[in-house]
Amino acid sequence: MPLLRVEEAQGRILAHFRPLEPEPVEILDALGRVLAEDVISPLDIPPFTNSAMDGYALRAADTAGTSREKPVALRVLGNAAAGYPVDLAVVPGTAVRIMTGAPLPAGADAVVRFEDTSEAAGQAERDLESSILIEILRPAEVGENVRLAGEDVAAGEIVLRAGAVIRPQEVGVLASLGRKTVQVHRRPRVAVLATGDELVAIDEPVTPGKIRNSNEYSTAALVLRDGGIPIRLGIARDNIEHLTAKIREGLEQRVDLFLTSAGVSVGDYDMVKNVLASEGQMHFWQVAIKPGKPLAFGQVRGVPLIGLPGNPVAAMVAYEAFARPAILTMQGRTAQSHPALRAVLDEDVTNSGRRHYMRARVRRQDNRYHVTTRGSGVNVQGSGILSSMTWANCFVVVPETVTFLPAGSEVEVQIPDLMNI
Ligand code: AMP
Ligand code: MG
Repeated sequence: MPLLRVEEAQGRILAHFRPLEPEPVEILDALGRVLAEDVISPLDIPPFTNSAMDGYALRAADTAGTSREKPVALRVLGNAAAGYPVDLAVVPGTAVRIMTGAPLPAGADAVVRFEDTSEAAGQAERDLESSILIEILRPAEVGENVRLAGEDVAAGEIVLRAGAVIRPQEVGVLASLGRKTVQVHRRPRVAVLATGDELVAIDEPVTPGKIRNSNEYSTAALVLRDGGIPIRLGIARDNIEHLTAKIREGLEQRVDLFLTSAGVSVGDYDMVKNVLASEGQMHFWQVAIKPGKPLAFGQVRGVPLIGLPGNPVAAMVAYEAFARPAILTMQGRTAQSHPALRAVLDEDVTNSGRRHYMRARVRRQDNRYHVTTRGSGVNVQGSGILSSMTWANCFVVVPETVTFLPAGSEVEVQIPDLMNI
């Protein structure tokens, strides 16, 4: 069977996914999710013209030609505090003492900072409030230190568009519009099922011939990281009855996607393959990816199913390449690849005909990114060596067309989580 190119497999899978329907959520819960509506502002922001500084609101024309040597003195009409309307009106020769965020009094067109007035630091607040005259030490320009109503957002404006990813700044903008809830695409429910007679659960003893089921946890963690809701189904044994029952159990939980691990490779005892095939329409592929070559995709009772390989690192790499794009698409995300950068390779690397996602560590050094794979050895890059995933902070992606990369080459590095760099 010819190997399927990574993009070909991705394309065939993604053709079956669409953004899920919207649901209303509170804005903090919308973090990391995708807007499913255009958000229109019901008001001007700021809602009223106000001061950007603590100082004196005045008419710029009154300050023409003033200086520290020959200051203009203005009569202080009173105070304008943030949070309250002002009913003072500035007329020629007057000023209003104003705090940041306070409404600009009628007649004023500029604010001069305290620092540019005779109001000395350290002077008692009471004295300042009762002082009748203020000297302005610098000419003001019209509009100086004034924030105009609607300068940030105008009423009726589309502030955020459907498709926008909600980050902390979008949460803040939504709050400023008075939006408690917003429509975002629903998070997909993703069934996670490990298969294999050799597996024992996390709290069971490892008896001869058995290994712990780690895929269930790493896969569920990946689903969570990508915004999905993992529905953990535990372990299905390699027999028709148990596997069929587990798959039906998942289907009853209204999942949007099924992820299984193991039992899909060529030399495998093909129980998983048989059951999947008899429960739905399945395709079993060999993909030009390393690790992660065996992959299954299809539908069981109308629910898409991705059969990940069993080896723990292969399962994770195949998830990144094939399951993550599907899970993000269902959430309305269009940017699906991990952040990538170019880095200088520390050592020689060999490759043979598949796109190799090599575990690696990237670091910044001498103003460039450098990356090490610790070599192509099986003890590092073997598809079962899960501990090296905890050492790694990125993948070096070696194209399928490249057989040898000498030390010093520039390579593409994909970074699933920037926190680790
Ligand atoms: P298979 O795809 O069934 O041939 O499995 C490939 C390898 O992955 C075997 O060594 C399995 O023991 C291992 N494996 C399968 N499922 C899991 C799992 N859930 N957790 C850890 N290792 C697994
Ligand atoms: Mg197996």
